Amino acid sequence: MEISVPLKKIEADNRFPLSFYYRIANQLVNQAKVYRDDQNVDDLCTTLNRYCRLFDVIPQHRSYSIYSAKEKLHHNKIHKEFVKELEILKPLLGRDLQSPNNHSLSCSNKGKVKCCGTAVTKSLRIYEEKTGLVSVMTVGSAIDSSPLEPLCSAPATTDKDWNVHVHVVTQSVPSPAISHTESMPQAAHIWLLTSDSRNDHSKSSVAGSSESKVLQDIHISARLMEDFLELARDNTNKDLETCGVLGAFLKKGTFYVTTLIVPKQESASNSCQALNEEEIYAIQDEQSLVPIGWIHTHPSQGCFMSSIDLHTHYSYQVMLPEAIAIVMAPTDKSRNYGIFRLSDPSGITVLKECQEKGFHPHQEPPDGSPLYEDCYNIYINPYLRFEIFDLR
Ligand SMILES: [Zn+2]
Ligand SMILES: [Zn+2]
Repeated sequence: MEISVPLKKIEADNRFPLSFYYRIANQLVNQAKVYRDDQNVDDLCTTLNRYCRLFDVIPQHRSYSIYSAKEKLHHNKIHKEFVKELEILKPLLGRDLQSPNNHSLSCSNKGKVKCCGTAVTKSLRIYEEKTGLVSVMTVGSAIDSSPLEPLCSAPATTDKDWNVHVHVVTQSVPSPAISHTESMPQAAHIWLLTSDSRNDHSKSSVAGSSESKVLQDIHISARLMEDFLELARDNTNKDLETCGVLGAFLKKGTFYVTTLIVPKQESASNSCQALNEEEIYAIQDEQSLVPIGWIHTHPSQGCFMSSIDLHTHYSYQVMLPEAIAIVMAPTDKSRNYGIFRLSDPSGITVLKECQEKGFHPHQEPPDGSPLYEDCYNIYINPYLRFEIFDLR
């Protein structure tokens, strides 16, 4: 697996409040804790690196000098600890790479999927020796408690493991009220989305994509889009949009989208605005989820990203380069869904510089690339556990 992922520099955007950056920083601290407890060295390093990158951006923000000294001090302390921890972990990643247990497994003829084996065992032992940390869990139990189904042993997966949980949440604190279990489809396999499989008649192509190899793969549940359309059906019939937020878990360098949060919202036929964002944050924090993107319907319009969609997505992608925007367009005969991302750096730059609000035209990037494009690192994974929180 890729260990030293070259990361792009991020810059502070003063249109977002500084509290937004600290929120992401706190999320990364929570996620790091999960990986540390799971003794997952690779993803711990990725998360610590993301935190350190964000930590360098925060002082560039316009409001930094007048921001709460307590919060700044708190994060200065965390940053120092993380830098030390990274120093200890970095050499272990190299050894991890040479571990005979670290291999990838071809789970389908469409693409390679990394195996959730015991590759970290060796580096964990060294990590424990170096840090004096005592294991809280065995590697086996850490994997058992994972939100993922064991991809490598897919044929042995039982009906019990194949879960889609639907939570109807009426309070701000998530309280699962309904859950149901779906039986596992026969002969299910993990497959990579390609332009053929999308029923995609648009002109975009892999060759035209600005996506580089540095972006990590994303697995989404086979049910995600279907279940979202079902939840949106009442709105769709009334020509109203519906939106949802996607939460992911990073495991062995791959993002697994495990959670769909449907927030309280205000919608029209061509727009949708999430309300009470604190409720979304509460679930993300409780489950240590990475905000990996969002999904929304175009009940009567085609499958594309409107100017408002592009600005919404910019706020996701500026924090996580892998962030995705899924558009469901059930009435578009040529393509009924798309998984998009701003082109990077061209689209990102246009959105960063655009100060307009509401629907407005955007200039095309000067280098001729599109503002946004299809994502090509998305796998449909029928073995992924998937939860829905409907907060409406
Ligand atoms: Zn839209
Ligand atoms: Zn704009």
